Amino acid sequence: MKMYKALTIAGSDSGGGAGIQADLKTFQELGVFGMTAITAITAQNTLGVQGVYPVPIEGISEQIDSIGADLTPDAVKTGMLFNSEIIKVVSEKIKQYSWTNLVVDPVMIAKGGAPLLQEEAIDALKHFLLPIATVITPNIPEAEVLSGQKIQSINDRKKAAEIIFNLGAKNVMIKGGHSEGEAMIDLLFDGNEFFQFESKRIVTKNTHGTGCTFSAAITAELAKGKNIREAIAIAKDFIQAAIEDDLMIGSGHGPTNHWA
Ligand code: PLP
Repeated sequence: MKMYKALTIAGSDSGGGAGIQADLKTFQELGVFGMTAITAITAQNTLGVQGVYPVPIEGISEQIDSIGADLTPDAVKTGMLFNSEIIKVVSEKIKQYSWTNLVVDPVMIAKGGAPLLQEEAIDALKHFLLPIATVITPNIPEAEVLSGQKIQSINDRKKAAEIIFNLGAKNVMIKGGHSEGEAMIDLLFDGNEFFQFESKRIVTKNTHGTGCTFSAAITAELAKGKNIREAIAIAKDFIQAAIEDDLMIGSGHGPTNHWA
């Protein structure tokens, strides 16, 4: 049996619900061999982020080089990248190894409010990482930052998706978690058409790490050779089931279940 491999380049969450930990658990559940390049260590639990420690830049490029020298990933995702220096080196390395199937989760601010990307890094994200992304998966506040547009309606979301597409991402997936209404609609734009992925909204405070888990599931499915729409449909079912199955861990914003 061929073992497909996926690499996550992201931050560590000591609480185990988001970041590298959520990515690896998701890869495992979806039957893909997971590898990591850690960009930052966070001291974190369900109550919030207590500390952020970026890994020295040489340490990040060396982790990617170690993987590039031996273990070609079938798909790669980026999560928390924290600053422009990290974004530049990560983008250069991905290009150097000609890795395709790149899922960019433009992690900016944790649900508790802690900044996971410095403001000075937004331009670097647009200029270096977006042009090589197979798909970018912003939530609504992140799509507002990337497009410079306020988003209130589905039409606003479509306009923002077109603007972000024009920055170079081949597919733009704007998630609906921060919108209102009973239906949860995620909107995909592939440059030609819009596709809506709809599900029932689940009201819970335990959604820590859902963005990481969703983008990791897309990455796993792309690694297995699924096309973007198939990968998103499977990832959407995976995250829906994960949120429904409330683990009730910790006294703050708890993690979702990662079991398939
Ligand atoms: N911590 C790390 C290291 C992350 O990569 C992410 C991803 O978005 C988060 C925290 C965010 O967690 P939350 O879902 O609570 O916003």
